[in-house]
Amino acid sequence: MTLVPLPAFADNYIWMLQIDGQAAVVDPGDAGPVFDALAREPGLELAAILVTHHHGDHTGGVAELREATGAQVFGPATENIPQPFTPMRGGSHAQALGLRFDVIDVPGHTAGHIAYVLREPPAPLSHPLLFCGDTLFSGGCGRLFEGTPAQMLASLDALAALPDDTQVCCAHEYTLSNLRFALAVEPGNAALVDHERHCQTLRAHGRPTLPAQLAMERRTNPFLRSREGTVIAAVQAHAPGVQPDDEVAVFAALRQWKNDFR
Ligand code: ZN
Ligand code: FE
Repeated sequence: MTLVPLPAFADNYIWMLQIDGQAAVVDPGDAGPVFDALAREPGLELAAILVTHHHGDHTGGVAELREATGAQVFGPATENIPQPFTPMRGGSHAQALGLRFDVIDVPGHTAGHIAYVLREPPAPLSHPLLFCGDTLFSGGCGRLFEGTPAQMLASLDALAALPDDTQVCCAHEYTLSNLRFALAVEPGNAALVDHERHCQTLRAHGRPTLPAQLAMERRTNPFLRSREGTVIAAVQAHAPGVQPDDEVAVFAALRQWKNDFR
């Protein structure tokens, strides 16, 4: 099986999985890059479309791709996705490419946002794959458009509980700007300093910083580290009055800090 990010718009990735002449894509906000990828491999058939949430930059190409290819569309049961689609919710799974994608509810960015986990992808891939849309980004997390900080914190906790070697396939290349904020929060985090340098090099060579490795996210992403003393202290210095033992308040203040960060 192969996994590639197809760049779309300014900074989206449409993740494409391929095996035995069949493909699946995640969050095709634009049909164009998917048609181009299919055209590069004559005979390759689009079998499935997995959607994480209803935003247009994740769903804009769904109808056109389905009509052209007959691909089966999977999407969050409680969100407004181009019909018809197979409704997914936490605990259910999408059966595509002969594989089972487990579904996790991850509300916060949107109210019905879901993530897909492929626990044992076929060789030569050897690590679990997470497709998390706009919930977890490398170095950051999605904005809270529809959910509460408590919901987003619980959603990130659920994703952070996946195995260390999970490959995090986020829907946007936001890593460098996220890491600039992360360094403002934890300037003394040596793993973060090294990781930021590594990602700078990747981008300087025009390469994606993704997929991210979950273990590295736990060491560097402030939104997975909001219970660490260093992060709590930084949030308190930025937003005096936040109770250090109120984990939701700390997380909310951290998210607000990022919203205002330039
Ligand atoms: Zn979104
Ligand atoms: Fe998005």
